Amino acid sequence: MVQKGQIGVTTDNIFPIIKKFLYSDQEIFLREIVSNAVDATQKIKTLSDRGEFKGELGNLSVHVAIDKDNKTLTISDRGIGMSAEEVDKYINQIALSSANEFLDKYKDDANAIIGHFGLGFYSSFMVSKQVEIISKSYKDEPAVKWTCDGSPEFTMETVEKESRGTDIVLHIDDEYSEYLDKGRVESLLNKYCKFLPVPIVFGKKQEWKEDKYVDTDEDNVINDVNPLWRRQPSALKDEDYLNFYRDLYPMSITEEPMFWIHLNVDYPFNLTGVLYFPKVKSNIDLQRNKIQLYSNQVFVTDSVEGIVPEFLTLLHGVIDSPDIPLNVSRSYLQSDNNVKKISNHITKKVADKLEELFKKDRTQFEEKWDSLKMFVQYGMLTEERFNDRASKFSLLKNVDGKSFTFDEYKTLVESSQTDKNGDIIYLYCSNTQEQYSHIEAAKEKGYDVLQLDGQLDVHWVGLLEQKLEKTRFVRVDSDIIDHIIQKEDIKEVELTEEQKESLTETVKAQMPVIEKTEFGVDFKSLGENSKPIQITQNEFSRRMKEMAAMQQQMAFYGEMPDTYQVVLNVQHPLINELIEASKEKDKEALLSETTSSGKLKHIVDLALLSNGMLKGEALSNFVKRSFDMI
Ligand code: ADP
Repeated sequence: MVQKGQIGVTTDNIFPIIKKFLYSDQEIFLREIVSNAVDATQKIKTLSDRGEFKGELGNLSVHVAIDKDNKTLTISDRGIGMSAEEVDKYINQIALSSANEFLDKYKDDANAIIGHFGLGFYSSFMVSKQVEIISKSYKDEPAVKWTCDGSPEFTMETVEKESRGTDIVLHIDDEYSEYLDKGRVESLLNKYCKFLPVPIVFGKKQEWKEDKYVDTDEDNVINDVNPLWRRQPSALKDEDYLNFYRDLYPMSITEEPMFWIHLNVDYPFNLTGVLYFPKVKSNIDLQRNKIQLYSNQVFVTDSVEGIVPEFLTLLHGVIDSPDIPLNVSRSYLQSDNNVKKISNHITKKVADKLEELFKKDRTQFEEKWDSLKMFVQYGMLTEERFNDRASKFSLLKNVDGKSFTFDEYKTLVESSQTDKNGDIIYLYCSNTQEQYSHIEAAKEKGYDVLQLDGQLDVHWVGLLEQKLEKTRFVRVDSDIIDHIIQKEDIKEVELTEEQKESLTETVKAQMPVIEKTEFGVDFKSLGENSKPIQITQNEFSRRMKEMAAMQQQMAFYGEMPDTYQVVLNVQHPLINELIEASKEKDKEALLSETTSSGKLKHIVDLALLSNGMLKGEALSNFVKRSFDMI
């Protein structure tokens, strides 16, 4: 008996829509069909466990087979199967209420369409000109064969089938013959089905014999039915986690992770997974998109932005949750409550883990800090919740390599580095070589200097200033040390405006011409024993420029020149000489005299030299002049 009918869709013909709109993601058809086979297999197991199915279960593997001659790809299972009535119900009468409207809205999002309509099975028409279902239910009913060629018409007939279960036979379109290619199918199975809970067999294992590969008798099972993240953490060793990591990223990652978190929640949502902490290197963008998202062991995606907080995308590993609505668009995902809960949970777990490591073995944590710092900073800068937690284990490192928590550091410097306004000044440097003289000057005062030379430090410092009360971060070379940490009011310098003007011009005339660099001149009373000239760079404008280098919207600041202050110590004998001369002479005379003697030039060069700013011709002239002096 052959029954004919029309598939119950409200659109004229669903197939052109499927083919047209789902084009970009068409390869997921295999995931859909194999997942259905796995579901049917799990169901028969459950029925058997409950005693509702009393027959032999037999070998429950799902088989995927290519027949090149007949141009078919067949997926066979020994699951519960379907009776004719069930095929009619589950396959023919797909409900497509308000289909047009929905398709319009999500036409570019294959997952959304598939999920919305439960079109899993129908996605096979993306690549097939004809699809057959041959199925025999576990109940004692005749087997049924359903055939459809991609038009809304189908045929259904009773056939002979010995074993329980379902064969889905895809007659692959000529256009998509890639899905008859062994390598292509194998790579798809590896991508989507690698951790399915039922063995998926694709051909036979091969071995190298004489000069080619030949099939053995052993089934080629492509998946690991009991992946590590589904197992009990207590039963797992470090080696297991490391092996699994290598399994996940056989090609792309060579370095071992620092540590990992095993996620295992079943209430109020279901979530399992393992997240690995890689060493985060300077270019954080390269590290992203390594986390794989699964739903009940079916691979869904490896771009998890919007699903987990941005900083967590730097981690590697697997997240598996049936509670994440997978077959919907990203914008929908971001507003989904379950997704938010899961994402908060993961953030909390990550913070817990870091805190635990810090408490358990501080020495080890300090050793790892350099590779971890950027991840933690990124998290603090982008996730409020994480920011709060991270204050407990974030470390500040000083130029001598000692590490402190925020609290410890405050205790260390509070008494010595509080200025007259009650602000605690945290001194830092970004380059111990270039800023050496400034670091030394600070140390001589008994101050501590932090080393902040990471890519995110400038942003982090801004964040910490908001977080820590009455605390400012100032780079050691941004002013004279006594002015960075001002303990008392500064004495006004006793110079007339004319004197200042003429001296400024005289000093500026000695400065080298450096591209995009400007020098200002300032006068300060720093005592006879301090250096005659020092060069500093204002903290604010320097920070703006550093941020500009990383942020598009701040590009304006990036275009601004570097401005340095040349600070003259009016109490130093050499500068005093200059001041005395300026009282007697007019501008021109002073200029020509200082230029010809070369003394001022030399002092300026010495200041530039100690800032690492004396280069090229200026440096070579300085060396020559020095020899002449000797
Ligand atoms: P979904 O899997 O989302 O329910 P599908 O269109 O993929 O949507 O499948 C519709 C229904 O057809 C399934 O829910 C199941 O009842 C039935 N089905 C599909 N494939 C099989 C199979 N291999 N064995 C038994 N039943 C199946």
